[in-house]
Amino acid sequence: MSRIYLSAPDIGKAEQAYVNEAFATNWVAPVGPHIDAFEKEFSQVVGTKYAVALSSGTAALHLALRLAGVTTGDEVLCSSLTFIASAAPITYLGAHPVFIDSDEQSWNMDPSLAIEVIEKKVRTGKTPKALVLVHLYGQSADTQPIKECCDKYGIKLIEDAAEALGATYKSGTPGSMGWAGIHSFNGNKIITTSGGGMLVTNDEKLATTARFLSTQARDPAPHYQHTTIGYNYRMSNICAGIGRGQLIELDKKVARRRAHFEAYRKAFEGLPGFTMQPEAPWGKSTHWLSCLTINPLKSKLSAEDIRLALEKSNIESRPVWKPLHLQPVFSSAEYHGRGVSDKIFSEGLCIPSGSGLTDTDRQMVINTIKNLF
Ligand SMILES: *Cc1c(COP(=O)(O)O)cnc(C)c1O
Repeated sequence: MSRIYLSAPDIGKAEQAYVNEAFATNWVAPVGPHIDAFEKEFSQVVGTKYAVALSSGTAALHLALRLAGVTTGDEVLCSSLTFIASAAPITYLGAHPVFIDSDEQSWNMDPSLAIEVIEKKVRTGKTPKALVLVHLYGQSADTQPIKECCDKYGIKLIEDAAEALGATYKSGTPGSMGWAGIHSFNGNKIITTSGGGMLVTNDEKLATTARFLSTQARDPAPHYQHTTIGYNYRMSNICAGIGRGQLIELDKKVARRRAHFEAYRKAFEGLPGFTMQPEAPWGKSTHWLSCLTINPLKSKLSAEDIRLALEKSNIESRPVWKPLHLQPVFSSAEYHGRGVSDKIFSEGLCIPSGSGLTDTDRQMVINTIKNLF
């Protein structure tokens, strides 16, 4: 039996046509018409004025943090329950992440805790330079109170919407409400370009400077001249072609992921100790990954027992992200928490959720889990 993956790429026909066009016209480098068009189409979808196509979501975050002025010794607040890429670029700049716990309602940064930490830091003259707000598993964080607090103290709000393309928050979209937002097109995300990312913003100067830095910071001169150090972070025109094809199907892909979540929710109703990730009332989640928690005191099996059982049937599943304050590499980082993300981590499991996952395969996942009880 072939393996059932957590979130495999889901590629259609339009992608191939765009890629063929790139080859036929010899636009195969990190410059060309697909890049310009992808940026334009993407900014329309998320509702920002500008979008800058890059080689990864991590690169987008690195540029946003650098252009927020983050430098050696600064502090940057960051969600703890997330993938390492949310925080790694903070350390590239010699700054220190300050990790904040989740709320139970959305699994994202707890606004009351974040505000408490910010106000204490402001009072002691250590205002953080920026805040990285993650929209985990496609569910928007409660952005408004955090944004108001950031605005009040001049802290740059950078939204990590790598898992949340196609989600909503009130009348907006995750990634478009802060000073900058980032998206990822890694192979397992909502849409993929094989690998890539996007920086989105309404700040023209940020967009222009990010584009400049992403192409090695070349000053306008016929010879190569540089007054600052940049990066090789631009997206290739081939990848942008794949992205354009993927973007056409975004709504369908999100609907499919949400349908998986709903099917799992129905199937596991009544299984002792099983709770699907709650959906907060302020927006629509993409359910990038269908996540649930399994309380081992109420259920006879732990999340890890279930993961191992699925693995035996050649089905991929994965614990919820290990909170960054528990990661060895961040053992000396500052952390503010109330034990919420620790509990989600110890009880959480992500199960197959790709938009290409068939009904038959999804039923296999359900049967394998239900047969354990
Ligand atoms: C995938 C991901 C990223 C990084 O994106 P890449 O394109 O892989 O660099 C950042 N943050 C979160 C929350 C992610 O899931």
